[in-house]
Amino acid sequence: MSGLTIKDLRVVFDGFVAVGGVDLAVPAGDVRFIIGPNGAGKTTLVDAVTGLVKATGSVTFDGHELLGRKVHRIARLGIGRTFQTAAVFEELTVLQNLDIAAGWSRSPLSLLRKRTAVPPEVAEALETVGLAAVSDKLAGTLAHGQKQWLEIGMLLVQNARLLLLDEPVAGMSQSERDATGELLGRLATDRTVVVIEHDMDFLRRFARTVTVLHAGRKLSEGTVAEVQADPRVQEVYLGH
Ligand code: ADP
Repeated sequence: MSGLTIKDLRVVFDGFVAVGGVDLAVPAGDVRFIIGPNGAGKTTLVDAVTGLVKATGSVTFDGHELLGRKVHRIARLGIGRTFQTAAVFEELTVLQNLDIAAGWSRSPLSLLRKRTAVPPEVAEALETVGLAAVSDKLAGTLAHGQKQWLEIGMLLVQNARLLLLDEPVAGMSQSERDATGELLGRLATDRTVVVIEHDMDFLRRFARTVTVLHAGRKLSEGTVAEVQADPRVQEVYLGH
């Protein structure tokens, strides 16, 4: 299957089971939201996919097994991740940020070549993330939401085909949230997107399928309405 397929994923830290046998399938073209209380294993799952922690089981993306590969090799296979705090070069312009990120996946020699035009992949990323109008602004002067979109743009120019986004709308204004919801749809047209997100209002508006993790296991999966109606989910979120 093209897209992300996780089978029986387990991550154990010094005997503590952080992820205890999770199956997850996200086809190309889909956005999957992952929710769950603190400590559920959401970050650890993403860490395992990106090679940051050791895991057993199987994680394939577009048919390539990821487990056992080094972090940079996994990134080369088109897997990109954002963190809650956007990692952009504040002293450089939006365009320069994208150019540098694009350079990471080009050959070192191409950096020495002189060129004047904006590379096509950079222009395309600017359009996709909606930052074309501010391409000459210093990243440090961008609004919070714009920085998040720039970071996503930096993944796009590195040819990311699987995007793993950690709470992308945290701290965003309502209009930034709306724009991000629409961006997710554009990203997923030919990519696979996995989003860790707590914001229920955002989920109700933009999520088609939600996977709920709890104590390292998959507790529930379905539409937002389905998982909200699931008694197991209610018990975890509302207490006993
Ligand atoms: P979430 O992202 O859902 O809040 P995490 O994946 O961060 O949950 O954590 C899952 C569990 O694993 C938590 O109980 C956390 O304390 C534990 N954990 C995470 N990373 C480590 C680590 N490096 N060493 C030991 N325990 C860890």
